[in-house]
Amino acid sequence: MTSIADRVASVRTRIETAARRSGRNPSDVCLVAVTKNHPTERVAVLLDAGVTHLGESRLQEAEPKIAALSEYRHHITWHGIGHVQRNKAKATVRLFNMLHSLDSVRLAAALDHQIETLLVAGEHLPNLVDGRLPVLIQVNVSGETTKEGFDLPGGLDNHERLPHFLAEVNDVLASSHLSVQGLMTIAPRANDPEYARPIFRSLRIVRDALAEHFPKVTWGTLSMGMTDDFEVAIEEGATMVRVGRALLGERNMR
Ligand SMILES: *Cc1c(COP(=O)(O)O)cnc(C)c1O
Repeated sequence: MTSIADRVASVRTRIETAARRSGRNPSDVCLVAVTKNHPTERVAVLLDAGVTHLGESRLQEAEPKIAALSEYRHHITWHGIGHVQRNKAKATVRLFNMLHSLDSVRLAAALDHQIETLLVAGEHLPNLVDGRLPVLIQVNVSGETTKEGFDLPGGLDNHERLPHFLAEVNDVLASSHLSVQGLMTIAPRANDPEYARPIFRSLRIVRDALAEHFPKVTWGTLSMGMTDDFEVAIEEGATMVRVGRALLGERNMR
């Protein structure tokens, strides 16, 4: 069996190769290891292999894991990558250094409100940056009905939906305790990674349009690409790839 350290080395090499192939600097691509459904001991092996960015989808699972690894807290950047219910806003702002899955204006408002309340109550929130939680706006550009995220199927070509989308983004940007850093998307699962390319490209084009429309915001981060398609995502401009199975193997079923 291949060790986790070998798998980390192999994924890092593939990231580098994909970046160089597309004329990009490999250090501009951050590897987020997705540790959902894997026990804390295996996560600790990832840390030993030098991985410092970890992603979890479900709060119930993230909370005990982050607590169990608290002695490494200062070396780990925890990424929330799954749908967050609004009644979990408080736990979310306490746990994660970045939320990739901001998928509604109402969730933005709930997070904003929780941060304000906790700060007013004098709570120290060390994962915030200048009192703001770094977030990515999750966009559903593929039009798959099961995917969460702000709807913009077809991306910028969706002239009908675009004004509404821009209004929603504007509302998110009004949250004084959120710091929008870019966009995130999930491509539909397919056997051929090329299937995801137009989706990743579409997200990048939406990002470029938002950067023109809202120039005060830094739209630098594009979180896209998973085990099956991260190299294609890098070729299309990903700055963060969220990789689970290629590092830790198949997940145990829930
Ligand atoms: C599970 C998950 C991943 C990782 O998927 P793999 O196919 O195991 O690499 C990435 N992003 C999100 C949002 C996930 O839920």
